[in-house]
Amino acid sequence: MKIIVIKFGGTSVGNLNRIKKVANIIISYIKRKYKVIVISSAMSGVTNELLLKIEKIAKEFPDAEKDVILSTGEQVASALIAGKLNELGYISRSWLSWQIPILTEGKYNSSRITNIYKNKILSYLKKGGTPIIAGFQGVNSDNRLTTLERGGSDASAIMCAKFFKAKECIIYTDVEGVFTTDPRLIKSAKKIKKISYEEMLEMASLGSKVMQPASIQDARLNRIDVKVKSSFKKKSGTLITKKKKIFNNNVIRGISFTKNDAKFTLVGIKDRPGVAAAIFKPLYENSVNVDMVVQNISGIGRETDLTFTIKIDDLYKTEKLVKKNKSIKFKKLIIDKNVSKVSIIGVGMITTPGVTYKMFQALAQKKINIEVISTSEIKISVLVNKKNLKKSVETLHKEFKLDSL
Ligand code: ASP
Ligand code: MG
Repeated sequence: MKIIVIKFGGTSVGNLNRIKKVANIIISYIKRKYKVIVISSAMSGVTNELLLKIEKIAKEFPDAEKDVILSTGEQVASALIAGKLNELGYISRSWLSWQIPILTEGKYNSSRITNIYKNKILSYLKKGGTPIIAGFQGVNSDNRLTTLERGGSDASAIMCAKFFKAKECIIYTDVEGVFTTDPRLIKSAKKIKKISYEEMLEMASLGSKVMQPASIQDARLNRIDVKVKSSFKKKSGTLITKKKKIFNNNVIRGISFTKNDAKFTLVGIKDRPGVAAAIFKPLYENSVNVDMVVQNISGIGRETDLTFTIKIDDLYKTEKLVKKNKSIKFKKLIIDKNVSKVSIIGVGMITTPGVTYKMFQALAQKKINIEVISTSEIKISVLVNKKNLKKSVETLHKEFKLDSL
């Protein structure tokens, strides 16, 4: 059987007209003799509306009940698609996670798929049926409904591709593919034809919202080729695949950026072992994700400053936790909300010297001040003032020849 998995994101099934288009896309694969497994997300905005209802009715709402509600968005969308396909003369039905079943482990609201039973879906495919599987949901060992992390219908698709050994997994979304940077900010952004899992993972974790980061990791671990395509325009998309399959001379493949960071600086903390741990312990205990960290080595040897960044959503929580932290002393706390993180990404930098220099030099020439730096093997991130965001991305996009791909 030539099985493919195709997944439609929230905007692709955003209204009834779009769902009709989705039905036609599915049919185009059936006509090419594929056995198609469809994964649907909820219609755009629906999951958020459901969350709002939950928040409004009770402050303390049981996590398990939350998932019963949150999983309904996908239930509706998948039945709408199946219904339309039936009208057009195709055998199709919706499949909910417990009917297959799709097993998950972990906490409610952020479960992970551990197993998918194949028998029922395979015999349905053999009969000529096209299953429309509700994404984002599963069932746990207590036989209760669960949901994955937000954006998790991507993970549903990748895991289906894995368990059903699909030839391909195609993610239909509202953008044409993965771009060198956000085309809404930089006009000269170019679509990337092929990108490695590693680069894609960095891009997604750093703010390119094409796919959920956790599911890119799933695809990488299981070596599943993923194509990202637009459900509105008939154009080739981006293939996310193994490094080996990519021939590209550009050291830097993409630039991502964030607009929702905040920077904390603790001025005049004691320079001795345990201080950094004491600062970050309560943040960890309260699920604040710390991103970039810098600490200066102090000249005199007694005091130093420590700077770190967090997501702006955690700003008030973090401020409170730092201020009431009795195990640390500092002279001053400076909080800056006007920062953006700009990152250049490319596996080529592992073997190419001078990338860091080139990046800093290019920014310096434009008089852009770098506030914090962090690096990994395949990315370099700098924190800049938000007012310099566009200029920074533009400068680096040119410097690393992404304009002329
Ligand atoms: N509907 C879910 C969400 O909005 C899952 C998804 O769209 O992938 O997070
Ligand atoms: Mg979504």
